[in-house]
Amino acid sequence: MKRILPCFLLITGMACSNSTDKTSSLETTAGPITLVIHGGAGTIKRENMTPEREAAYHAALQQALDSGYTVLERGGKSLDAVIAAIKVMEDSPLFNAGKGAVFNSEGKNELDASIMDGSNLMAGAVAGVTTIKNPITAAYAAMTKSEHVMLIGAGAEKFAREQNLQTVDPSYFFDSLRYKQWIKAKEAETEKDKTAAEIDPYIKDKKFGTVGAVALDKFGNIAAGTSTGGMTNKKYGRVGDAPIIGAGTYADNTSCGVSSTGWGEYFIRLAVAHDIAALKKYSGLSLQQAADSVVMKKVPALGGDGGIIALDRQGNVSMTFNTAGMYRGYIKKRGEGKTFIYKD
Ligand code: ASP
Repeated sequence: MKRILPCFLLITGMACSNSTDKTSSLETTAGPITLVIHGGAGTIKRENMTPEREAAYHAALQQALDSGYTVLERGGKSLDAVIAAIKVMEDSPLFNAGKGAVFNSEGKNELDASIMDGSNLMAGAVAGVTTIKNPITAAYAAMTKSEHVMLIGAGAEKFAREQNLQTVDPSYFFDSLRYKQWIKAKEAETEKDKTAAEIDPYIKDKKFGTVGAVALDKFGNIAAGTSTGGMTNKKYGRVGDAPIIGAGTYADNTSCGVSSTGWGEYFIRLAVAHDIAALKKYSGLSLQQAADSVVMKKVPALGGDGGIIALDRQGNVSMTFNTAGMYRGYIKKRGEGKTFIYKD
């Protein structure tokens, strides 16, 4: 049976994994490679955008797609593609992750990230970190270099330093636009300026662009990752869905990979990423049907909002959201990366 399996999977166009050695049996296979990314869902409306800002988002998303796709194209692993794409967005002030992270109620940037390997269900996460330049790399280190899944706060930072990851002074994360948004959010909290939240959709929304990526490599392995600064004016120590495996991130080769963005409290309570994977796996729904059932029905029914990106082993992609917009894009072939912002 072992000798027949790889041939069968090659005919179906899928890569496979051998139970004893995942990589060696896969090197001869070359399934479809795909990368899908998001830069956050929320109240993103044309009327609030300038053409320059729109162009900047498209360019940054393209850069992230290009970076991740280059890894896949060269025969690299989905995990590395996810990290490459997310690092580009973490380094951009346009997104609420890494540089550009939102401020919490004490005026600090506390970052969360997670990553998962769909080939073996290994996962890693960090939460509430303030000095790790690229939290996604710390999530990966937690997965590969520790016996744990999640590390938080000062412990996660100590671990990151031990792993020689790049650390920065917390002031690195200061961004004047995010700071202004936080000040407005604080004002809106008080009776003093109730209208600020109504006038400025960014304040009403409090979500500004969590980032995520899901990749399928030529070996047929799916990986997913998510990174965020959370929600603006969040309470000190608040942890959202992004670093929670099963809520913000999930990957399972036998089902799909998912990265979430939205109102984290709801995504945690509904275990959104895992629910989509479970629906696809156990109920026979297609990837899109599973995503619709959770994002378009369950999340709003509970009062939450947001979106997801997902992909399966056949390279099917879903970018589903119940908000006005979601920064997003996907690529299946060099030069054919597509990026989007609004619903239409
Ligand atoms: N899900 C993130 C959180 O709740 C926020 C976002 O996606 O924008 O922390």
